Formats: sequence, C-alpha cells, structure tokens
Amino acid sequence: MKLIKSVTVSSTNLTDPKQSDSGDSALIHVGISACLAGIEVRYNGGHSQSKFCLNTLSEYFNFKTFCPEVAAGFSVPRPTMRLVGDPNNPRLTYSDNDTADLTQQLNDAIHPQLAKFDHLDGYVLMKNSPSCGYERVKVYQANGHPHTTRRQGIFTEQLQKKYPLLPIEEDGRLNDPSLRENFILRVYAHHNFRHEVLAHLSLHNLIKFHSRYKYTLMAHHQVLYKALGKMLANTGDASIEDVSNRYFKLFMQALAKPASVRNQTNTLLHILGYLKKSVSSESRKNMASVIHKYSQHKMPLITPLTLLSHYIEQHGSKYIREQRYFNPYPEALGLRNRV
Ligand code: SF4
Repeated sequence: MKLIKSVTVSSTNLTDPKQSDSGDSALIHVGISACLAGIEVRYNGGHSQSKFCLNTLSEYFNFKTFCPEVAAGFSVPRPTMRLVGDPNNPRLTYSDNDTADLTQQLNDAIHPQLAKFDHLDGYVLMKNSPSCGYERVKVYQANGHPHTTRRQGIFTEQLQKKYPLLPIEEDGRLNDPSLRENFILRVYAHHNFRHEVLAHLSLHNLIKFHSRYKYTLMAHHQVLYKALGKMLANTGDASIEDVSNRYFKLFMQALAKPASVRNQTNTLLHILGYLKKSVSSESRKNMASVIHKYSQHKMPLITPLTLLSHYIEQHGSKYIREQRYFNPYPEALGLRNRV
C-alpha cells in the first residue's frame, strides 16, 4: 500500500468562524470526516463534500478534519473495505479479500488521535463507512450477505467510547430539519457547559447554568428536567466534580431527545404566564392563539417565539430574559423556521 501524507487533525481554514452569540469568544471546534470537508481521501480518490457543513456551519464552527483510514496508512485510491464477522466484534477487511484483518492497523492509528479531541464540541460523520459510519453500517457474513443487525463504524465506536457525551451526527441526517436543529443545539450546549461550568467549577456556576437552560430542558425532556432540578437542590455531601459529572450526563441525555411540538407548546405557554401582570389580556390572547396554531402545525416555531420574545424583552424579568431557550444558537442559522 502506498502511504500518502496523513490527514489527521487540522483546521479546514474555510472561513473565520463567528463568535458565539452568548458573548463567549471561544471558538466552537467540531470534528468532521475529512471527505465531508471536501478533502480527496475516499477509496476512489474523491470526496463527499457536505455543502451544509462547508457553506453554512463553517461560518460558526472551526472544523477539524480527520480521516482514520488515511491516518492508518491506507492509500488513496485504495480497495474498498467492509466489516465482516460478528456484528458485536467485527473485523475490517478488503471487500474483495476478507483474509486480510485490517482492524488493528486502523485502531493503532485512531487511539493516539482520540486524545487530541478533548476540545471538540461535536462531530459530523460520513454515512455507511466501515470506519466513520454513525449507524446502519453493514457487517457481512461468510456467505457474502450482510447481517440484519447494523452497527457503527470502528472509528465512531471508539470516539463514542472515549467521549460518550459528545454530540455526534451523520451528514445525511442533517438534512432532516428536526435532527439538524437538535444537533446544533447540543453542540452549543456542550460548548457552553465546558466553558461556563467545567472551566470554572463551582456549585454556583452549575446552578446558574441550569437556571438559564431550564426552559430548553422543559421543551426536550420533562422527566429529566425535573430530575436535574432535584439533583441540584439535594447535592448533600457529594463533591462538585461528582455533581457536575452526573449533571452533564443527564443534561446531554435530555437534549438528545428532540423537542416535540407538544413540549414546545407547553414551554411557550409556561413562558407566556410570565407576562400575566405586565401585558394586556388582549395581547396575551393573541399570543396564545399563535401558540395554538403552532401546536396544530400551521406555523413554524419561530413565529410564536419571535412574538413572545418581543414581549419578554420589554416586560420580562432578568431570569426569563436570560433563558437560553430564546437563543440556543445563532439566529441567522434559521433553524427554527423549519421545525
Ligand atoms: Fe476517510 Fe472516514 Fe471519509 Fe472514509 S468516511 S474517506 S475513513 S474520512
């Protein structure tokens, strides 16, 4: 095999990403399969450039590219590879010669790189790849047919093992407005938690963080929203490290559940309650009617949100005005126009 220059972790330098809306100047670093960034590392010498990542997300994220197969020394172009054997512990091999076991060669290249990913807040992966696939990757039996059970690629499995809370998504799934919105919301939440809580660890900062994410949590997962509130109200003798670890795990788990229209509606109505004393009943009736139309899928989330945030900005308390629910990510991404 011809060894080409290894594409490991590097900035794609596509544009200068914008700073986050929260005022945090730290850049948001997101990993990406190198072929999605337009780098010609695929088995056929080509790439699978993701227009959404390169044209839109690169305005906000500093993408770090990595190709596990090239890092492992496989050439470009190279014979196609696939997973074979036990779906729980498959081998990586060439599609036309399954006697070669390439698993160790790939793993040896992945492990040293994983340690360098601790500053990432998300990862976008190429679908169907035996290395980078996020799910539904085929594992072939000895008779040449795939098992019905599908799985992750070898790199993805190691990435998730090392960073179980890291938001990960497949490029193709980002075409779904709801999955796209959910992934980007989680990337920003992961980033905010690392910078606002983990970087300055204290119960005060953790409670402050939770306080700002209350309505986002309510819209995503009612049960975990309540559980997280209880956790912070009863920390007992637990160390702040222990509390923040448990909090982060449940917090990311809660956000991984896309917000349903029903939960969004309840959250919007709850927020509307804050305007009871300061806004006329006529105006509140109008807002309730717009929220109702959203709940019937007659308008996108952005419509009641814009109306509500206009009044909250003028009449809401500091607590409600500071809710991340109103700006979980840059508005210019337009993600709430389609959910
Ligand atoms: Fe490399 Fe992964 Fe793209 Fe395959 S899918 S070319 S392993 S980055």
